[in-house]
Amino acid sequence: MYDLLITGGTIITCNNSFNIIEDGIIGVKDSKISLIGSKDKNKKNLPEYKECVELNNEIIIPGLINAHCHAADSLFRGLVENLSLEDWLQEVWKAEKAILNPETTLLGSYLGLAENLLAGVTTVVDMFWYPFETAKASLDLGLRLCTGGIFIDFPGVGGRTHEQYLVEASDFCSKFNNSEFVIPAVMPHGSYTVGPEHLKDAKKIANDFKAIFSIHAAETMFEQKDIKNRYGDTVIRHLDKLDLLDEKAILAHCVHLDNAEMDIIKATNSIIAHNPLSNLKLGSGIAPTLDFLEKEINVTLGTDGAISGNDLDMWLTMRLAATLPKGKLMKPDIVNAKDVFQMATINGAKALGKSSEIGSLEIGKQADMVIISTNSLHSIPLFDPITHLVYSCSKSDVKHVYIAGKQCVKDGSIISFDIENIIKDVKKLKMPTLNSLL
Ligand SMILES: [Zn+2]
Repeated sequence: MYDLLITGGTIITCNNSFNIIEDGIIGVKDSKISLIGSKDKNKKNLPEYKECVELNNEIIIPGLINAHCHAADSLFRGLVENLSLEDWLQEVWKAEKAILNPETTLLGSYLGLAENLLAGVTTVVDMFWYPFETAKASLDLGLRLCTGGIFIDFPGVGGRTHEQYLVEASDFCSKFNNSEFVIPAVMPHGSYTVGPEHLKDAKKIANDFKAIFSIHAAETMFEQKDIKNRYGDTVIRHLDKLDLLDEKAILAHCVHLDNAEMDIIKATNSIIAHNPLSNLKLGSGIAPTLDFLEKEINVTLGTDGAISGNDLDMWLTMRLAATLPKGKLMKPDIVNAKDVFQMATINGAKALGKSSEIGSLEIGKQADMVIISTNSLHSIPLFDPITHLVYSCSKSDVKHVYIAGKQCVKDGSIISFDIENIIKDVKKLKMPTLNSLL
């Protein structure tokens, strides 16, 4: 007896052979996929089930994995514009300090994580000031989340000290060490905002708990010059010398790297989270994605926060990741749609050490599945589902979302949580104005 059967539709498995199954069937038992294949046309009856969803030409994909986000920054979307990262950050921190506390962070987290969920994201890697609140919002929505204590060397939101950050990071890892839905991490902001000794302290906690370690790295030319002035090294060499790079290190951005830095990332099995929209909008540059792929670095995709890129859209992220290198290098045949789709799914699962559980649709894996509508004008006719997903689809095409076999989004609406009350509370917040930041 299956808890859920999905019949019909084209299944993009994202398995090792990248099999695509037309007119497929998926059976789910106890949150896992226990049947996947082609519908047997000779069989009159379906296997026994509790619930069955019959599809009509829709596409079924593994849930998307957003490898770099600041969900609660959705509260500040559109507030700080037209500035480079360094000036922008000063304004962002002012805005955040004006209204953020654990309660408002919880509201913002619901807002940003719900936007991810509606867009077909089933796992989010999120860095923010109050990780316990982000985790609460995520668990309430039914999403998978990787987050943890942050570190920053100046009095940020909440005015906490390094010692307080250490306790919080350690407590977070302890609490969620065996969680099914929360993957614990330690998240120092960057090597230009956290000194070497404090970075090593953060990594020690990550090592103690075998947790993910995620940091902004090599985002701008300014950052590279700054780290060189301070420590005599480029960013990745600096991180490497501090022993921070390994298969648990997710490096957000990596826009400005030299060849040897890319080799260090590959040699240490570190992971890059590529955030093309945020990099474009802040004028940071365009990451050398083709080089990453040629060096077989694990590249994942992220939206960054809605305060930098103004949305949390993994579909736009995929499209930019696939098209920017072609335009930049004037080569239409590089960074193909399949490469990019893997960045948004299985590569993210590998980055989190969870590739045996999520990131593809295979027997024994968690049933994190997204059903994509193919009824829109831009879906007719549809020649190739992969190029369609990467170059034509948008978040409005996401119809249903299942996480661990549980339906969280139905017909484009969240059903796992009452988001309407959150929207009312967000509207009541006394937000800073554009003028108050100048
Ligand atoms: Zn970021």
